[in-house]
Amino acid sequence: MALPITGRCLCGQVTYEINQEPLAMGLCHCHSCQKETGSAYLPWLVVPTSALQLQGTVKWYSSPGASGKDVHRGFCPNCGSTMLGRPEAIGELYSVAAGCLDDRASYQPQMHIWAEDAAPWCSLDAALARFEQNPSE
Ligand SMILES: [Zn+2]
Ligand SMILES: [Zn+2]
Repeated sequence: MALPITGRCLCGQVTYEINQEPLAMGLCHCHSCQKETGSAYLPWLVVPTSALQLQGTVKWYSSPGASGKDVHRGFCPNCGSTMLGRPEAIGELYSVAAGCLDDRASYQPQMHIWAEDAAPWCSLDAALARFEQNPSE
């Protein structure tokens, strides 16, 4: 992807800039991401927290993930756009919600994760790697 990678929420109050290639990109079909987005899945890219400069303040909501450790989910407090995730289980990394990217065409998901939770009406691209839960499992 062309650097820096930039994105913004629906209202523009929260923006970010990423100065590193994503470590991974994928689509999360877990129930929590479905609830968070109100949609079939959450398209994410993962970057070190140190590679992302945030402008504006996100509000964080935390709940336990499958590992038992908390997953922090960051959204714009004004418009509610889903923007960032910080699963404690994966260390100092952000998962960035791809729907807020300015250049959406350059996003290329590599995998489905939590495919076992996929919505029955959502067809999964068979060209991508598929993990029933997290890739490490
Ligand atoms: Zn906003
Ligand atoms: Zn998820």
